[in-house]
Amino acid sequence: MIVAVRMRPLSKKEIEREEFEIIRVMDKKLVILMDPLELLNAKGTLGRNRSKEKQYAFDFAFDQDTPQKEIFENTTRHLVEGILEGYNATVFAYGATGAGKTYTMLGTESNPGNMFLTLQELFIKLKEQKNNYNYDIRVSFLEIYNEMIRDLIVVSDEVLDLREDKDKGITVAGLSEVEVDSPQDVMELLFFGNQNRTQEATGANETSSRSHAILQIIVEAKDKASGTTAEIAVGKLSLIDLAGSERAAKTNNRGIRMIEGANINRSLLSLGNCINALVDNMKKGSKNHIPYRDSKLTRLLKDSLGGNSRTVMIANISPGNDSYEDTHNTLKYANRAK
Ligand code: ADP
Ligand code: MG
Repeated sequence: MIVAVRMRPLSKKEIEREEFEIIRVMDKKLVILMDPLELLNAKGTLGRNRSKEKQYAFDFAFDQDTPQKEIFENTTRHLVEGILEGYNATVFAYGATGAGKTYTMLGTESNPGNMFLTLQELFIKLKEQKNNYNYDIRVSFLEIYNEMIRDLIVVSDEVLDLREDKDKGITVAGLSEVEVDSPQDVMELLFFGNQNRTQEATGANETSSRSHAILQIIVEAKDKASGTTAEIAVGKLSLIDLAGSERAAKTNNRGIRMIEGANINRSLLSLGNCINALVDNMKKGSKNHIPYRDSKLTRLLKDSLGGNSRTVMIANISPGNDSYEDTHNTLKYANRAK
């Protein structure tokens, strides 16, 4: 399990509101969270009250100037090799709405993120391969919204079901899988899919993202010599832009929105529980039961979390003082996953 934290720059709005930075990233590993009130009190006096600071260490801590490429190279790139050999892996972006999850995973067309860079790397790697295998790359893109699964590539209101198959592992019945041959194919597909995510106005943020978006890249290697039927390995990489982690209480939501909030928290909580149990089993040799069945997200990831599967968490945070609570919660969540 690799845990990385990425801080985004202060936004224009935050600068206009005269927000100030409460985060320091040091040595590419440390994140220091300062108490906003302490910082204000310390203005004009000698130094800060270091006893009120919280310090966290991660595998990587990326500051606001870290380019997309560097994030990719340190977090996700090393997984590509394993996928070609038939291993599964999962990368997810965690954090409050507005903290930079979508920027990290999808990015923009001029500054693409992990999803595109991963596929680009796959295409490059496959070109380099001079062996006896043929590879097929397929992608699926789905969202889990309010514990319901929907296809983001073939748009419909249909809610899809999870299936557990002895041979194929976990699958989503009726989910479209698209074969991709070039990075250009992929770019369009990703932005199209992302547009289809369920987004609703809430009290906290007008475009608060309430769904988990999951891109799955499936690589199938086939032995050239023995024809197309001899499948030798299937690897699956799941790249996940999680729903905002902010607490439902903050949005003053009622009714449906509140149920939604509870479900988001259930998925995130259950993801956290699975990861903590897995980390515990790995580090302390405990024999925890892994509660995959507690949410759609963790059921879907059952064959891609733990075991031989590598997992990467990128916790996204905002630097501003107004985000103190969200940032603190995100750092605690990430810290528990180490
Ligand atoms: P989230 O998906 O977590 O809700 P976004 O990824 O949409 O957050 O980011 C919120 C805003 O901040 C967007 O306008 C995005 O372009 C910008 N942003 C996020 N991370 C960065 C970054 N590392 N550098 C520059 N801009 C960023
Ligand atoms: Mg987003």
